[in-house]
Amino acid sequence: MDWLMGKCKAKPNGRKSVAEEKKVYLEPEYTKARVTDFAFKELVVVLPREIDLNEWPASNTTTFFHHVNLQYSTISEFCTGDACQTMAVCNQYHWYDERGRKVKCTALQYVDFVMSSVQKLLTDEDVFPTKYGHEFPSSFESLVKRICRYLFHVFAHIYSEHFQETLALELYVHLNTLYVHFILFACEFHLLDLKENAVMDDLTEVLCGGASGTHNHVKER
Ligand SMILES: [Zn+2]
Repeated sequence: MDWLMGKCKAKPNGRKSVAEEKKVYLEPEYTKARVTDFAFKELVVVLPREIDLNEWPASNTTTFFHHVNLQYSTISEFCTGDACQTMAVCNQYHWYDERGRKVKCTALQYVDFVMSSVQKLLTDEDVFPTKYGHEFPSSFESLVKRICRYLFHVFAHIYSEHFQETLALELYVHLNTLYVHFILFACEFHLLDLKENAVMDDLTEVLCGGASGTHNHVKER
């Protein structure tokens, strides 16, 4: 479980970051609220027989995008320029434009960039072909990884900055279940850079650690 041991670094002044101090989402009362059935992974994550190796991630990535978008939309009214001046989650996520220049933006703008850019990819027939005879491009895997990376950032932001609102809306079971599904899927197909995403290791450990073979799978990596 080495990859799960990364810790969020303390701020230079020695104080815990705000995100570390208010990890309400780690309280057992809330983390036990998710799907943990053993069959979950076997039924919804593993590539079903007879389904194309690219079709399965394509279809699931599209579904994750819609669900993460929906989940974020429930708290977006609280994700204002004042409340979330940056996409801060221990480390800040920065958005880069097409020319590779860093763009200064609020969390809301960042999520907007994420959703627009993912939507553009998902509806690009050259990347996610839907018509018979159209092939997946050679860059397909790296593009799916990019999408998963972006969606992970949105998850991290919701958990670290908007979990209280998610609780108040009674949507935390949905969030937890979606997160477990997403992480198990990403692990199964090696779609996330686990080191880069260590910021959420504590939650991933609690939510996915005991779920249907994630331990074993992670150890294999
Ligand atoms: Zn926010």
